Amino acid sequence: MNAPHELGLTPDDLADLDISPQAFERLVGQLMPRLQEQLRALPELPAQGDVDAEELCRELAQDPAPEHGRAFEELLEPYFRDWLPRTFLTPGPGYLAFIPGGGLLSSVLADLLAGATNRYTGVWQAAPALVQLEANALRWLAEWMGFPESARGLLTTGGSQANFSAIVTAREARLGEHLREGVLYTSSQAHLCVSKSAQLAGVLPDRVRRLPVDAHFRMRTDALAEAVAADRAAGLRPFMVVSSAGTTNTGAVDPLEEIGALCAEQSLWHHVDGAYGACFHMVPELRPLLAGMSRADSLALDPHKGFFLPYGNGALLVRDGAALRAAHAGTASYLPDPAAEEFMDPAQYGPELSRDFRGLRLWLSLQLFGAERFRAALAEKRALAVQAADDVSTLPGIEMVAPPQLSLFAFQLAAPGDDLERRNARTRALLQAVNARGRVFLTGCTVDDGRFLARVCVLSFRTRAERMRACVDDLREVAAELLARD
Ligand SMILES: *Cc1c(COP(=O)(O)O)cnc(C)c1O
Repeated sequence: MNAPHELGLTPDDLADLDISPQAFERLVGQLMPRLQEQLRALPELPAQGDVDAEELCRELAQDPAPEHGRAFEELLEPYFRDWLPRTFLTPGPGYLAFIPGGGLLSSVLADLLAGATNRYTGVWQAAPALVQLEANALRWLAEWMGFPESARGLLTTGGSQANFSAIVTAREARLGEHLREGVLYTSSQAHLCVSKSAQLAGVLPDRVRRLPVDAHFRMRTDALAEAVAADRAAGLRPFMVVSSAGTTNTGAVDPLEEIGALCAEQSLWHHVDGAYGACFHMVPELRPLLAGMSRADSLALDPHKGFFLPYGNGALLVRDGAALRAAHAGTASYLPDPAAEEFMDPAQYGPELSRDFRGLRLWLSLQLFGAERFRAALAEKRALAVQAADDVSTLPGIEMVAPPQLSLFAFQLAAPGDDLERRNARTRALLQAVNARGRVFLTGCTVDDGRFLARVCVLSFRTRAERMRACVDDLREVAAELLARD
């Protein structure tokens, strides 16, 4: 067995599992230079990363359970040398793929603070003031999203969990025991998690309608009205519409006001999946586009996208807070009494009991930077996307299929006379060659008519004008090379 000093710890540092405060500082000290080096290197690292790691994973899978302790340094070494480089470079400035993640270091400070103090924030009574910080962060989000004071919410692990709790809440509020007849409506462009959440919430698979979209990839309200009428005529119970404030594929914002009006008229619960786009409600210029969002019954948003936090941070807002509570409340004789309505009591509003103090990440980030910095950063990402889309749409061979509604645009590369297959192949080749240059990482998607689109999504706080110019330059040069080839 290793003597304690081999762990970099003296016997005084380590009584049972308790690392002394001095040793803790030393361990953090071992980590810091490596983190600093990693953060400094971000702009230079290949933007896509290298995930060719099957052999490495097979080797790793053989690791036996450790019987004796090892030194922290010994574990950090392969983490930074072998494992971390085998990833998409999600925190890098060139990450324009999928919906970019962030990784604000303010949130990392919050994790250190929350983890090292480890108080229990699952129930209000165990840490009332800490839970109130979380409630405040939610209240500020509600304010910025145009939700009323009376709204309640929940901080989740991500948008998928937020959408799930929204569907459960709507199901309880609108269907009760009539689960079998309940019908949910969304668009063909909705995120995968909408169908998945519906299934988890007990909505039958043949009761989920994925409606067609218009030329701008927005849900067609006429198709929605028809589908609702047809289902009612068939004796079913339409109960919920899940619209998108920014789809993952092309960044389309559904006609939220029209959908909201139809929902009001038909007594349907209107939930908006704003995991990608809701944050842009912070930007005054984009508020008209998102107008109906503030009047929805519920809204999912993702602080790990639009507020640049590290992964693991989602949020749900529900206009009628009592409905959220009714769907999730519960008590047991071994627990303290639930908090009065006036206070946030996480276990009464969500599926978890024990949970991390995730609210501190958002709260601390908002406190350290202030709303103005987030608003400015979001406006900048939007402006960068608009400028890049303008530049890209003038390139020979590029057809802009979806100009930016928020900060995402999608396009194809085509030559005159190309059929669908040729265009798709050309567009894939464009992505591959641009990604191979290592300055930006772009991904694509296939839309309903079979077109494969290349897409650019600007949402990382580290993406600035210089990187977007590199993106446009790489697209220009690669597109020209590919078109010159035949
Ligand atoms: C990312 C995303 C989701 C899923 O959220 P997670 O945080 O990945 O669970 C849902 N809807 C949209 C539109 C998204 O962009």
